[in-house]
Amino acid sequence: MLGEGIIKGMAETARNFLGSYVSDERLTTVQYPEERIPQIENARQFPFLVFDGDDPMKGMRCVACQICEKECPPKCIYIVKSKDKKPDYKNQQQFYPATFDIDLSVCMSCGICAEVCPFESIKMDTEFELSTTDRFGGLLVNKHQLAKSNGHYRKIHPGDAAASDAALAAELAKAQAKAKADVEAKAKAAAEAKAKAAVQPTPAT
Ligand code: SF4
Ligand code: SF4
Repeated sequence: MLGEGIIKGMAETARNFLGSYVSDERLTTVQYPEERIPQIENARQFPFLVFDGDDPMKGMRCVACQICEKECPPKCIYIVKSKDKKPDYKNQQQFYPATFDIDLSVCMSCGICAEVCPFESIKMDTEFELSTTDRFGGLLVNKHQLAKSNGHYRKIHPGDAAASDAALAAELAKAQAKAKADVEAKAKAAAEAKAKAAVQPTPAT
């Protein structure tokens, strides 16, 4: 029916308005900032960069692939890829972001960067009290300001972080199995070459 959604919305508003006189559960507003409502698991505000371990720069997962930079609708991510490489959690050498800036004054909190990142590196934070009197540079944040631990991610989005941990653990197991198979194949090839050399007839003198 045309307008059914509007009628349902108005009915919910009326239920909350009248219900708020008899039930605290119907009070949909609080006296902010003295009172705060705990954020729900799927709340998202602005992106942050996840790191593992204790060192934010060493443990930063981002490999500077720049997919998020390309996909960000308002183009507020700015990345410069490093010239050298550092080991990732699989001990494979990877580029890292020499520069990773986000202009949060432009970011529209769409979460696309987090969705497209193939490396579980960028996630959406729940922090929203970021107001500043510096209109031009105050919300341009760099990789040091963006870096937050995986522990923080687990705290704010436990379900997503568990799925992310499981995906990375599966990738690590796959990489370790491949490394083991490569070592075994090399050892087998070396043993076969040695055996072949041993049965070669000695050339007549
Ligand atoms: S949340 Fe959206 S707008 Fe903000 S940096 Fe990510 S992709 Fe860009
Ligand atoms: S955050 Fe993810 S998508 Fe963006 S550059 Fe880093 S690894 Fe690539």
